[in-house]
Amino acid sequence: MIIQEVLTTAISQLNAKGISSAILDAQLLLAHTLHCSRSNLIGHTHTPITHDQNTLFQALIAKRCTHIPIAYITGKKEFWSQTLTVTPDVLIPRPDTEILVETVLSHLHDHTLHYNIADICTGSGAIACALASELSNAHFILSDISSSALCIAEKNIASQTENYQCIQGHLLTPLMISCPYDIITANPPYIDIDDYHSLSPDIHHEPKVALVSDKHGLDFIYQIILDAPNYLQPKGAVLIEIGDNQKEDALNFAIQTMTYTSVTCIDDLSGAPRALYLTV
Ligand code: GLN
Repeated sequence: MIIQEVLTTAISQLNAKGISSAILDAQLLLAHTLHCSRSNLIGHTHTPITHDQNTLFQALIAKRCTHIPIAYITGKKEFWSQTLTVTPDVLIPRPDTEILVETVLSHLHDHTLHYNIADICTGSGAIACALASELSNAHFILSDISSSALCIAEKNIASQTENYQCIQGHLLTPLMISCPYDIITANPPYIDIDDYHSLSPDIHHEPKVALVSDKHGLDFIYQIILDAPNYLQPKGAVLIEIGDNQKEDALNFAIQTMTYTSVTCIDDLSGAPRALYLTV
């Protein structure tokens, strides 16, 4: 069997299961099987593959046919030019979240200073890892309600920096008031339970605890808005990821607390409202 043949068969198997990204997914899984890049694969479509490689590839395609996301099959996901380890214990990092990283980096003027940064609801640790790659002297606290998620976050952050601590706990409770932060980031669960069942089958493989929140998805966002000022340095900022339809409620809630000097919403690269940017 040559690469072109195995790809064609896999693409029709994936299409038959309603997977809209069939071509890309088949290429990614074959590249993963052969330990090569996708472009390498496309440049060598007439190269034969071995029986063992084909068996392994078929097993991966069978998993993808059950809508297991590619990142859980390969155990990896790219975020902010880094390759992170991911497992079904953590939400798969989304490119939308990179806007939080960009906003933090423009808020902090001198990237060589010793900033104190907390990333709560850290999941895979994606936000903290991206920031650690840019802020070499910062210290990071990573926290999550899920201890199994925190193990993955620890693995990822440890490959970036030694200046970190991972603490298990709900929202801001692991943080120390006596040691205020320059920046707090959070990508909390913010999906309304009523919307959960209509999400794509792939998302149902991700941890529900990382996705769903009460009060139409706004409960945790509200709790973070209320509590964050207690943990921030003067001129500190909290960045909270939100859903596209939550901008108005979240902004109004933040304004009504009267604790922030600036309350803004930042759009992601697709133009959707994605991050609350609140400074004290
Ligand atoms: N952005 C994610 C999604 O749409 C949700 C992430 C979250 O709840 N924090 O699937």
